[in-house]
Amino acid sequence: MHLPSIAIIGAGLAGSVCAHTLSAAGCRVTVFDKSRGVGGRMATRRIELDRGPDPTRLSLDHGVGWWPSGSGAFETWLQDLARTGAVASWAPRLRDTSGAVYRAKGWVAQPDMPALCRHLLQGVALHTACPIEALVRGPRGWQLIIAEVAVGPAFDAVVVAIPPAQAVTLLQAHQPTWAVKAQALDMLGCWTLMAVAGSPAGAGQPSAKSQAVPDLGWDILDSTDGPLMRLSRQGIQPGRTLGTNYCAWVAHASPGWSRAHLEDSPETARPVLLQALNKLLPSPMDWVHTVVHRWRYAQAAAPRAGGLQQQTHMWDSAAGLGTCGDHLGGGGLEGAWHSGQDLALHLLTKRPPTQS
Ligand SMILES: Cc1cc2nc3c(=O)[nH]c(=O)nc-3n(C[C@H](O)[C@H](O)[C@H](O)COP(=O)(O)OP(=O)(O)OC[C@H]3O[C@@H](n4cnc5c(N)ncnc54)[C@H](O)[C@@H]3O)c2cc1C
Repeated sequence: MHLPSIAIIGAGLAGSVCAHTLSAAGCRVTVFDKSRGVGGRMATRRIELDRGPDPTRLSLDHGVGWWPSGSGAFETWLQDLARTGAVASWAPRLRDTSGAVYRAKGWVAQPDMPALCRHLLQGVALHTACPIEALVRGPRGWQLIIAEVAVGPAFDAVVVAIPPAQAVTLLQAHQPTWAVKAQALDMLGCWTLMAVAGSPAGAGQPSAKSQAVPDLGWDILDSTDGPLMRLSRQGIQPGRTLGTNYCAWVAHASPGWSRAHLEDSPETARPVLLQALNKLLPSPMDWVHTVVHRWRYAQAAAPRAGGLQQQTHMWDSAAGLGTCGDHLGGGGLEGAWHSGQDLALHLLTKRPPTQS
């Protein structure tokens, strides 16, 4: 039997799990992502500090960090996946907003956050640095367009696995109702500060301050005091190393602060967030690298609001067009996983006609 060719736009968790399931069932799957790598909001920033004779490379998880264990199909899937090494269980010391500290059982991808999607996309045709701008449905199937030029062959079906505000552009010519509903979804932004303190070995005298980094008694701190909502110590998660001469934090601003300052420049946001980080740490740090990243679409404010159907994905079998993502699946990583997985299973039962 001739199995359909399917293009998936977006290599975050939703698109990657959808691609993995379809590919495992024998479909000819090709994934396109606008970024240079995969993972989407499962993101790790690599930085190089060259203050010494040997430049040091550090990696900081600046999108979703550790996520808590749950129950149900996603948790079972993670437990199975842990055998491959793509994810590992991790129980950080979490200090909650009341000041209580406890071990919180959860998961991280390893050795970095995109590793989970890289694992799922093994053996799947992948094109990165491909920002798809439009979809055209012709007699031979779906064409994906960049700069008014078709990329790749025609496909029997297309899955749009990108955040709703970005999906609107691709969907509106073919499924205007989906596009209108996606447009109505409110996405929360998140300003994120990455801050590294310390001195590299061999670069002269390490600073006294950086050598005396105390054990703060917590690995993740949640706060309601000021712009920052969560601090996550870096380099201590499974698979990561930071070197003994550095310590680093990723600090996520609250949805309210991020919304109020969404259009600020990085130059404006960075000192404010750094000051807030300094306030939450017990002693002054010798910062050697600080940088901010603005996530314009970090999480859906109210997943499934805005009139979208109470289902985890959308699929038009006549057109061979589908869409998935965290915003449809109930939010967060679990929502992304359910949405991508459910769409793939649905598509396999209602297979699109092959054009080629
Ligand atoms: C700072 C932060 C903290 C978070 N914390 C948590 C948490 O604690 N717990 C939790 O469960 N979730 C958390 N999340 C949310 C979680 O990361 C997301 O819900 C999940 O990763 C979304 O997966 P996705 O596949 O739906 O979308 P994405 O990961 O956004 O993937 C979409 C992909 O599509 C690509 N793309 C977009 N437009 C195009 C285009 N035109 N052409 C080609 N490619 C395109 C993007 O490059 C991206 O790779 C957090 C997110 C952020 C940013």
